[in-house]
Amino acid sequence: MKKYNFNAGPSILPREVIEATAAACLDFNGSGLSLMEISHRAKDFQPVVDEAVALFKELLNIPEGYSVLFLGGGASLEFCMVPYNFLEKKAAYLNTGVWATKAQKEAKLFGEVVEVASSADKNFTYIPRNFDIPTDADYLHITTNNTIYGTELREDLDSPIPLIADMSSDIFSRPLDVSKYALIYGGAQKNLSMAGVTFVIVKEDALGKVSRPIPTMLNYQTHVKKGSMFNTPPVVPIFCALQNLRYIKEHGGVAAMEKLAKERAEIVYGEIDRNRLFVGTAEESSRSLMNITFVLKDEYKELEKDFLEFATSKGMVGVKGHRDVGGFRASCYNAMTIEGVKALVACMQEFEKNH
Ligand SMILES: *Cc1c(COP(=O)(O)O)cnc(C)c1O
Repeated sequence: MKKYNFNAGPSILPREVIEATAAACLDFNGSGLSLMEISHRAKDFQPVVDEAVALFKELLNIPEGYSVLFLGGGASLEFCMVPYNFLEKKAAYLNTGVWATKAQKEAKLFGEVVEVASSADKNFTYIPRNFDIPTDADYLHITTNNTIYGTELREDLDSPIPLIADMSSDIFSRPLDVSKYALIYGGAQKNLSMAGVTFVIVKEDALGKVSRPIPTMLNYQTHVKKGSMFNTPPVVPIFCALQNLRYIKEHGGVAAMEKLAKERAEIVYGEIDRNRLFVGTAEESSRSLMNITFVLKDEYKELEKDFLEFATSKGMVGVKGHRDVGGFRASCYNAMTIEGVKALVACMQEFEKNH
C-alpha cells in the first residue's frame, strides 16, 4: 500500500533527494568511498557546502552582507546562541507556542525578556497582531510557523529593532524579504533535510555587539569566519540539504513551493470546514500552510481512535496530533503531493459516510 507521510518532523523529503543521498553514502562522486568516510576538508566536499550556500542565497534572494551557516545542535541550541550573541540588556519575544516559550526561557539566562504578546490564553490557536515592540530592546524574536498548533505568520514583519526568526518548519515554503531580518534559523528536519544540521542566515554587521565573552563554538562570528568549517560539520545532512535545494530550484523555486502549499492547504482546510465530523483548531486568519491541525467535533470525540486507525489503514502516516492540541495534524511540507492530500481528504469523506 502506498504510504503518505504527514509526519511533523523529521518528515517527508522528495524521493530523489533520499535516493541521491543514499547513493552518495555508498559511493561519493565515483570516488569508491562513502560520503561518511571522507574528510569534510576533502576537495570534493567543499563544493557541496559552497553550492548549498549559493542555492540558499539564490532561492531566498539573500542580499549582500549575509552569511549562510550550517551548524549542529538543532534549533534548540539557537535558542541559547541567539541571546548569547545578541542580548546585551533586554530582548523582546513573541510567544506563539512551546518552541517560542523555550526560546524565551533561554534568553532569560542572559538578560531581561519582554514578552510583547502571547496567545497562551487560547492555547496558541492564533498569532497575536498589533503588539508594541519596545524600541530599546536588542532584538525581537518570533517563531514564524508553530509546528504544534498549526499557526503561521506568513509575512515579514516590520520591526524597528533587529528581527530574529525561528523558521524551522516553514523555511523554503515562500519567498522571504531577508533584508528585514538580522538572523533566521531552523532545524533542517522539517522542510530542508534529514535531522542533524541547523541552518542560520545572519546579517554580518548585526554581530559583535554584545560585551560578554562568547565561547568559540557558540559565537556566530567563528562560523562566519570559517565558512561553517571551524569543526567537522554534519556532512551527510548538508549533502542531503543540497539535494533538496537543487530539487526546489528545479521545481520552480520558493514561489512554486508557496503555490503548491496554498493548493494543498486549500484542499485540506476545505474538507475540514465542509466535513460534519471535524473542526480546525487554529483561527482562520492564523492557519498554517505547513501543519494543518484539526479535531473531531465535541459530539464525535469518541471516534478519535477510530479515525486514526482508519487513516492508518489507508496509508496515512503521522496524522496523530501533538499531545498539547490532541486530534490530528497533517504536516504538508514541500514534498507532500496534491495526490497525498487528496488521499487524506478521501479518508475523511469515507469516514464521515461511515458515521
Ligand atoms: C522542531 C522545532 C524546533 C526544535 O528543533 P530541534 O532541531 O529539534 O532543536 C524549534 N522550533 C520549531 C518551530 C520547530 O518546529
